Amino acid sequence: MNINEKLSQFVSDPLEWSAARKAALLLWMYLFDQVFYLLFVLAAQKIDAMAPWFDLAQLAYHSVFYVWLTALTIVLLMVAQLAPQRYQDNVLYEYMGCLYFGLTHVYYGYCVGLMSIPVGVVLVGAPVVGFILLNRWPVAIAFGTSLLLLFAISAATDAGWLPYAPVARNMMAPDGNMATVWVISYWTLAMPHILFIFALAYYVLQRWRMREQEVTLLSRTDALTGLVNRRHIMSLLELEVADCAAKQLPLSIVMVDLDHFKRINDEWGHDVGDRALVSAAEALCRAVRQHDHVGRYGGEEFLVVLPGLDAAQAKLLAERVRGAIAAVEVMLPNGAGISLSASLGMSCNAVSKPVTVDRLIKQADLALYQAKDAGRDRLVIAA
Ligand code: GH3
Ligand code: MG
Ligand code: MG
Repeated sequence: MNINEKLSQFVSDPLEWSAARKAALLLWMYLFDQVFYLLFVLAAQKIDAMAPWFDLAQLAYHSVFYVWLTALTIVLLMVAQLAPQRYQDNVLYEYMGCLYFGLTHVYYGYCVGLMSIPVGVVLVGAPVVGFILLNRWPVAIAFGTSLLLLFAISAATDAGWLPYAPVARNMMAPDGNMATVWVISYWTLAMPHILFIFALAYYVLQRWRMREQEVTLLSRTDALTGLVNRRHIMSLLELEVADCAAKQLPLSIVMVDLDHFKRINDEWGHDVGDRALVSAAEALCRAVRQHDHVGRYGGEEFLVVLPGLDAAQAKLLAERVRGAIAAVEVMLPNGAGISLSASLGMSCNAVSKPVTVDRLIKQADLALYQAKDAGRDRLVIAA
């Protein structure tokens, strides 16, 4: 088991989480951020070497809000975590989580300066993560509202109505460069966001790819027998016909139809019929070569594609298939066994002139009818 599989077993698929659980994830992450911010403020207040770059009075004033906001996060987190089962999927959790996250981040951003790396990271990263994980509307509304607030504060700062980065002092050194303390502070404040956005986007998109593979597999598989279904065996046949034509190779197909199958259902029930189909499918797979294809074409009808085999070679293989089905014994509840037989119609391409998929199928079908007419349990090769 690789690390991705281990991780997915542990956290399951976040895309399928309830609204409350998703909101809780965001709030946990936010709580981590806020504790991190508090430590940052504490460092600025306690480390003498940092003092010249911070307005300590403003920092003391705002840190009261930081503490309250952190406490509020804990309360909201408890609300999301303890949500009763029937409210778990209420989209209100997402609205609450997104708006709270967006608006308070604008405030945090305002304190350290809106034109900064951490604000930029959150501004771009949060909606991306949000759109991957949550419903569109909560994310869009929270993003739009936060953006408007950002514009308003930027304009107010520009007009001189609000200070820029109130907790900062001497952000710009006299030489016109940004003070080293602030360069480091900005990267430090941005880092948890960068890591979280990266990890979540990586993980969720990984799950997304896995899900896509599962869906593709399901769309190609016959649920009962596990063989490829009709749609997929037809596209495999199309590929093989084109490939063999290009390489001037022979190709044969065999249509296999179980004999008097309706009787099995009628006499022993659908269950036994189903098991018979599964056993027949297994026998077919065992009888063919590794690169041949076997698909369930219809109810009790299978299509076998034999690339590279001409009529003489394919005949041997088709007889092997017929023998394999004849050897199947389906056990009945009373301990007795019933055996199966199948009729087979085979058609082949002519290496010298191209053949269409349609024509191959029609010929095999016709041969299959002839096999049925001639008494079943036999192979007929199309002329
Ligand atoms: P023939 O020898 O002429 O092919 O006779 P047949 O009875 O096999 O053919 P017919 O087409 O009359 O009947 C096919 C039967 O296969 C009817 C249908 O109920 C059964 N069948 C098709 N799909 C399934 C399935 O998924 N499960 C089960 N149990 N039966 C199925
Ligand atoms: Mg049949
Ligand atoms: Mg049939």
